[in-house]
Amino acid sequence: MTYYHLNARLLAPMMIQKNRQSNAPGGLPYLPGSTLRGAIAGACLRNGEPPESTGFRTVFLDRPVCFPDLLPSKDPDRPGRPLPITAATCKRSPGFSQEKGHGVHDVLAAFASEREGGPVSATFTCKSCTHDIEPFEGFWNGNLANPQNNEPVRVYHRHTSIDRRTGTAASSSFYFTQGISETWKGTDNRYHPQYLSNGIYLDDDQFDILSGWLSEPIFVGADRTRGMGEITLALTETQPPAFDLEAWNDSFMKKLSALTSKPPVQGVFFSIELTSHTILVDKFLRPSLSFMPDFPDTAIDMQMIRPQTVRGWQNSWQLPKPEDTAIAMGSVYLCRYTGDNIDGLKRYLNRLTAEGVGLRRPEGFGWVIVCDPFHIQEVI
Ligand SMILES: [Zn+2]
Repeated sequence: MTYYHLNARLLAPMMIQKNRQSNAPGGLPYLPGSTLRGAIAGACLRNGEPPESTGFRTVFLDRPVCFPDLLPSKDPDRPGRPLPITAATCKRSPGFSQEKGHGVHDVLAAFASEREGGPVSATFTCKSCTHDIEPFEGFWNGNLANPQNNEPVRVYHRHTSIDRRTGTAASSSFYFTQGISETWKGTDNRYHPQYLSNGIYLDDDQFDILSGWLSEPIFVGADRTRGMGEITLALTETQPPAFDLEAWNDSFMKKLSALTSKPPVQGVFFSIELTSHTILVDKFLRPSLSFMPDFPDTAIDMQMIRPQTVRGWQNSWQLPKPEDTAIAMGSVYLCRYTGDNIDGLKRYLNRLTAEGVGLRRPEGFGWVIVCDPFHIQEVI
């Protein structure tokens, strides 16, 4: 398997509905893997590629490709990243320091130290103005040296229904839809293209087939008949995500020791962060919110997670997909390893980042990153 950067450029505004209720027309700020997968399969079938063909079977059925969520990005060469739940910023002047905010903190070590008996109040105030900090949600570029908020520009389309008898606007029937703009305005006062991207693992056959299919623009999301959701997709080979377990553990221990006066705890710390919604079930196949690394002598020391209901539409059934309870993207697990097989642990964690966890992985669920440096940084 080779790791590629899958980058979409928006040619028109894109609208992905959050849910099916017409009175709650909120839109998602990213392109879910399940929507992308459905759109590529639909385009493929419309172009005359039958479901029993070798190409269709190779990508969707026999060795299904795990299509990732495509997250907003301002840089065509760097995938977007969800901010972890542990990100927090000043209530009065939110945002990264270099974007004129008071900086973004990570509270994972602060919460972990609280559990160890450390002080709390000092770590949950803004270092610039001493006001409270609050959770900072959204997307960023994942670059600690040059952090940038990747939240896309939203567009709202207003609609009225037409009264069939009179041919005029129907009374009491005004609604709006929310989408992502295909451009954003930079500080240079120029408009730049909006990208949506992420990494994807493909074998050589899958790469050849997908590259052929993606030579033409495709349409995704709602209101496609009005020209919404047109995107072009490109695949570029890139380096798979990597992590430095020992360095992360050392830095996290230092951060922890600075916050608590107790002697350092034993074991090797590492974090697992969900970069997409993740659907877990217990042994009776009931929805579960508890994740446990499948490696000996490993335990969850702390978790900061949020539940998320996952909805969808199955085009070939023309019916809604069953609703699943997932753990939301950005959720973070702080784990501790107390054994001595560090190389084995690294192999396990590498497999976790390459294969993901939980159900419905071909639709983009269950992607994780390990030892995110965001948690060991000071304010950025
Ligand atoms: Zn502040």
